[in-house]
Amino acid sequence: MVASRSARERKAAAEAGPLATVRIEVGPDEQFVYKISCSECTSAKGSWSAYRPGEDNGFMAAMDRWTFHLHEKHPGAEAPCLAYLPEAQRRLHERRGQRDDPGPSSTEA
Ligand SMILES: [Zn+2]
Repeated sequence: MVASRSARERKAAAEAGPLATVRIEVGPDEQFVYKISCSECTSAKGSWSAYRPGEDNGFMAAMDRWTFHLHEKHPGAEAPCLAYLPEAQRRLHERRGQRDDPGPSSTEA
């Protein structure tokens, strides 16, 4: 359990790049809680962080938010997760589409 958690933590940290601090905590219901915080946006004025519980869904949601943050606030930064920006945007779009438009979903084959 502990080994797999730290392995996930290292993998997430590697993908999130040098600006991110990734921590995985185990919540009271035994599920992983992903926390990604920005080392540049940590200050007295407040810090940026994404906090998502859940296994792979939580990881994905936290990493998507982090990818958007990097893209918007730190355009010069490099991180492996930026390669997934189009996918993250598509997921965000799909989630929004599902919420705003209850009509027939457009499925691409
Ligand atoms: Zn930041």
